[in-house]
Amino acid sequence: MTKTILEAKKLVQNNIFYKISDISENLGFETYVVGGFVRDSLIKKSQTDIKDYDFVTVGSGIKLANKVAQALEGKNKVQIFKNFGTAMISWKDYNLEFVGARKESYSKNSRNPVVENGSLIDDQKRRDFTINSLSISLNKNNYGKLIDPFNGLDDIKNKIIKTPLNPDQTFSDDPLRMIRAVRFSTKLNFNIDNDSMKSIIKNSNRIKIVSNERVVDELHKILSYSKPSIGFKLLEKLNILKLILPELTNLKGIDEIEGQKHKDNFYHTLEVVDNISDYTNNVWLKWAALLHDIGKHPTKSFNKKNGWTFHGHEFVGSKMVYKLFKRLNMPLNEKMKYVQKLVLLSSRPIVISEDNVTDSAVRRLVYDSGDLIDDLILLCKADITTKNIHRFEKYHKNFEIVKKKIKEVEQKDKIRKFQPPVSGEEIMEYFGLNPCKEIGAIKEAIKEAILEGIIANEHKPAFDFMVKKGKEMGLGN
Ligand code: ATP
Ligand code: MG
Repeated sequence: MTKTILEAKKLVQNNIFYKISDISENLGFETYVVGGFVRDSLIKKSQTDIKDYDFVTVGSGIKLANKVAQALEGKNKVQIFKNFGTAMISWKDYNLEFVGARKESYSKNSRNPVVENGSLIDDQKRRDFTINSLSISLNKNNYGKLIDPFNGLDDIKNKIIKTPLNPDQTFSDDPLRMIRAVRFSTKLNFNIDNDSMKSIIKNSNRIKIVSNERVVDELHKILSYSKPSIGFKLLEKLNILKLILPELTNLKGIDEIEGQKHKDNFYHTLEVVDNISDYTNNVWLKWAALLHDIGKHPTKSFNKKNGWTFHGHEFVGSKMVYKLFKRLNMPLNEKMKYVQKLVLLSSRPIVISEDNVTDSAVRRLVYDSGDLIDDLILLCKADITTKNIHRFEKYHKNFEIVKKKIKEVEQKDKIRKFQPPVSGEEIMEYFGLNPCKEIGAIKEAIKEAILEGIIANEHKPAFDFMVKKGKEMGLGN
């Protein structure tokens, strides 16, 4: 224990902490480092990887932040969140967050607590987990002292996520903490303690009172880690997943009719998400992996001849992506379209990977996916979850072949950023036309001829093709 106390002292031997300590003393405040910085550096993460510092002060967080911003080199803006009494400084690549110590009391019927100024211990009590309430003093009389009223240090050693107060109170006060427990369990590979688990199951329904934005923030974080399946399995076990992403829990289970089974698409999906996490940090690509099979629930059907089928699940799934984003107040922008498009195209490269594939099929895929082609291939590789080692290797090899074919076709035909080689103006000028639907028809015919490999993606052959096509349509004189 003494060792760790010395260690805590070491963690704050740094100019930024000295400066904050001086400023805090001049203001007559008491200030502590708390939260992620303390937790992660005690877990022995390299301190240079930690970019978010949280400070709690017995005094005004906003006043302290303003003074600190002036004292640090550079022009530092302070972002103030008056409602929460917090202030944030972005300094170099760090985020410094300041909050005045507070005491919160909640009533059963309202999401919003009554907040009063409080002491350090009051503030530690209202934090989510013991490992997040650990604080290190920046005050002159006990600089570097670790203040750990809830044995967070033991919980770090035992890899346990536990609430500082009775879990029913902590979770009922702010039900988002139930998802945060799962998030930290995923991030740190810690277990949620038994009483907290029971309490989450009991309180799971209360997640409904939390705003979608806060829920989605935590989901993004779960997805950002290297093994997101840990989090989604836990959310499912705790009865929370069906309340926030029923599209996923609907994929659970294996049906059997006349001895024919399909795979459990929920666990399959989670494997795909873990696989893609080996290849990328792009959280939207991870969302695409998470949602790539959601259309399988509404399209599932069985017949004697073909067994289980999920016809059109990619199209149905891409429509469901829109509804899901809308329901969760996620942005309905190009990110959503990116996810939709990947879901829609998610089976196409598999068709291409089969033998005897024509160049034109490859060109069409590149045309339809455009700049998404590389991410789409990654998604397809991640989608290989067969446990049969021969098949696994064969499928992976097939995608290498697909990648080669795409490269060849791309070098030749430049389809990825397809620009019509003959413009609408040229067509109008040649045939003496005003804007009309025939121009679109000719452009479409040229594009089709290129994708089919009838003509090269170049101006001269496309122009000759236009002349011929126009004549067939009876244009010009
Ligand atoms: P990470 O490194 O993953 O960001 P973190 O501990 O810094 O981890 P944040 O979400 O940034 O997590 O929150 C900072 C601190 O604020 C937490 O450590 C915790 O003490 C407190 N906190 C944040 N959200 C809550 C909440 N909903 N309820 C209680 N305490 C919270
Ligand atoms: Mg943080």
